[in-house]
Amino acid sequence: MSEVRVEGVVKGYRQGGRAVAALRGVDLSIEGPTFEALMGPSGSGKSTLLGLLGGLDRPDAGRILLAGRDIAKLSERERTLLRRRDVGIVFQQFNLLPTLTARQNIALPGVLDGCERSWLDGRVDELLELLGLIGRADHRPAAMSGGEQQRAAIARAMLFSPALILADEPTGNLDSASSEALWRTLATLAGEQGATVLMVTHEAAAVAHCRRAHVLIDGRIAGTFEVQGRDAGDVASCYHQLVGQKRP
Ligand code: ADP
Repeated sequence: MSEVRVEGVVKGYRQGGRAVAALRGVDLSIEGPTFEALMGPSGSGKSTLLGLLGGLDRPDAGRILLAGRDIAKLSERERTLLRRRDVGIVFQQFNLLPTLTARQNIALPGVLDGCERSWLDGRVDELLELLGLIGRADHRPAAMSGGEQQRAAIARAMLFSPALILADEPTGNLDSASSEALWRTLATLAGEQGATVLMVTHEAAAVAHCRRAHVLIDGRIAGTFEVQGRDAGDVASCYHQLVGQKRP
């Protein structure tokens, strides 16, 4: 069981001489394994929240508990280890190293961590199989489709079986068929591999694959709705009700 709890999280930035409040007291609770969405208008704080959950940055106030541990209190070194082992992050741009093959990209966090070679080779084989990449193992990113590159990025994020996988608009660079396949893959990882996946997305069709959706507006969670059984049209209606814009 993995659990994510965000309590009263506040985060601000300075832009020039001006203070910008990105998160104004976020409370969120996720009981895994599950596949959930984080929605919200541009500038509402989604990427900031994902960055805090991933240990990329620290909140100004509040607590972020991953499996009971407050990651806001970790030292720089501990946050580096958290990012490598306990949380997997997947970005829109894939962020694979162009000179490495799929297999080498997936193995990289393990190489950096000094993992035993035989364990690492076996784990990478498992992930290549799981993500349908066996035939692409020795290809560099340039020789892979966008969907294959994103699946390799997911495999890399899963190397150490993290409690939490964060995906920031993972299909932003994919066509609609590859996007559908990727959402199904993420749902399967949550269902069969026991992962907790939190995905930032604008797309109602993506959210239709999730269990719940959390809507962030102006730095606060405006609401959470259950998705199961709703199609993309229903999801869009729920979302628009929460942001207070009635659909035409
Ligand atoms: P979203 O992902 O929902 O579009 P963000 O988390 O990127 O929202 O941004 C929330 C607010 O914080 C915005 O007003 C944005 O301009 C500001 N912001 C985000 N990151 C930074 C940063 N590194 N420096 C200054 N302001 C930032």
